[in-house]
Amino acid sequence: MQIRCYHCHKPYALSKDAVATALDILSEEKLHHYNARCPHCGKSTQIGFDALKRAAPNWTPKEETPSDEQSA
Ligand SMILES: [Zn+2]
Repeated sequence: MQIRCYHCHKPYALSKDAVATALDILSEEKLHHYNARCPHCGKSTQIGFDALKRAAPNWTPKEETPSDEQSA
């Protein structure tokens, strides 16, 4: 997916693998944004979970928790 750096405003690409990895991390850690490091200036730009998902529509969470054991 194409990203425009929030800091230096240069565009760069995130590969499909990188998008899938980012989605894995976000779903595992229950985060809403992924910090993609800009190759131009080295700073991070936040990418929303939804935007990542749109870039990788075939992505599915690695492990789904089928039932919440702590539901009381
Ligand atoms: Zn940058």
